[in-house]
Amino acid sequence: MVNPKSISLVIPAFNEEKNILPLYNLLRKVIEKNKYYYEIIFVDDGSTDNTLRVLKSIHKKDKKVKIISFRKNFGQTAALSSGFDYARKSIVITLDADLQNDPRDIPTLLREIDKGYDVVSGWRVNRKDDFLTRNFPSYFANWLISKISGIKLHDYGCTLKAYKKDILEDIKLYGEMHRFIPAIAASVGARVGEVEISHHRRRYGKSKYGIDRTLRVILDLLVIKFILSYQFRPIQLFGKLGFAIIAFGSLIFIWLVYGRFFLAQPLSTRPLLVVSIFFILVGIQFIIFGLLAEIMVRIYFESQKKPTYFIKKIVK
Ligand code: UDP
Ligand code: MG
Repeated sequence: MVNPKSISLVIPAFNEEKNILPLYNLLRKVIEKNKYYYEIIFVDDGSTDNTLRVLKSIHKKDKKVKIISFRKNFGQTAALSSGFDYARKSIVITLDADLQNDPRDIPTLLREIDKGYDVVSGWRVNRKDDFLTRNFPSYFANWLISKISGIKLHDYGCTLKAYKKDILEDIKLYGEMHRFIPAIAASVGARVGEVEISHHRRRYGKSKYGIDRTLRVILDLLVIKFILSYQFRPIQLFGKLGFAIIAFGSLIFIWLVYGRFFLAQPLSTRPLLVVSIFFILVGIQFIIFGLLAEIMVRIYFESQKKPTYFIKKIVK
């Protein structure tokens, strides 16, 4: 049974020297008020300011504050991932180090976990970021992600989320994929919920992202879509595409041959002939590609003994 009061807080921080101490104080208030059993895992993502020094001074007084310090900046997803690997309590809560998330929303997330959800995502209903570079592109990205991933959330980019620890054990993260954890979690069988939370403007330090993130998110979305739908059966994608392209090329080819034999149109004057053969060859390539991918999938899962299923519980 999951203890709804036992929490690991995972907080990535990259150059957040002025935010760390106020955040810690706010967290302590919430923790004491709700009597949580806690650990706070700060991941210093290669900060070049005083972030690490501030963290160490907090750790000196409170040994429940742990610090994972990266050698260089590996990015928010890697930081979260290392925190997940290190977390020991039964519920993991992630939040930003920059005070934009409000620790007072933690009990709200935990209430949802207590209702039986495995993942609860925050929804910044009144998001306090720049409209043109952040809120608007993210509105579009959220719409696209929910269409493609099949998980209906309003705000994938919100870091404030709660997870049951055992769900995270079945998930590996790459690139900038932390925003897709709910979708990945759902694919291994998690129940995913959402609650409205508050959001504040950044007071100290700068945002680490700009408009270029939208493109990176969309590329990652492509990868996620492929992995979620086809990683166990790539031939279903490549094979279907291949047959469709061959069919298209063959139709042109048959039409040309028909013209040659029944309408006496010589083939030598039809450049379409080359096009049709091109389509047929490309289609064959696609199918061969799919077969190769099938072999790669088998090597990937079998050589590393990766499971192709995820177990919730075994009753003996
Ligand atoms: N962050 C990180 N590594 C990075 C970029 C960001 O650990 O390479 C942290 C950052 O310190 C903050 C959180 O991730 O705690 C969210 O970053 P930011 O506030 O810049 O993003 P925004 O709120 O503007 O989307
Ligand atoms: Mg922020």
